[in-house]
Amino acid sequence: MLGSNHHYAQNIMLEYTDKLVSVVSACTCDRCQRRMTPGEPEWDEKVSISYKAGYYSTFGDGRKIEVDLCQHCFKETLGTWVRATPTDDVI
Ligand SMILES: [Zn+2]
Repeated sequence: MLGSNHHYAQNIMLEYTDKLVSVVSACTCDRCQRRMTPGEPEWDEKVSISYKAGYYSTFGDGRKIEVDLCQHCFKETLGTWVRATPTDDVI
């Protein structure tokens, strides 16, 4: 909702304006097309890579590199080299 509201609390004169904020509401695995949404367990285990490549990149100079993978595709493609180390904060 876009609009303008002014709230005055006590004697502190702060003015607030509502603003439209976009948040990621779904992610689709680039490999298997699995759709993941916030609130489901798969959402927290997805792997997203996003960066701007440099001049020496095998993908091409200055390309924007992005990939989103579900945990299953991540394991099937890169799992061989993943270091999965036990931690103290296991739920
Ligand atoms: Zn996948």
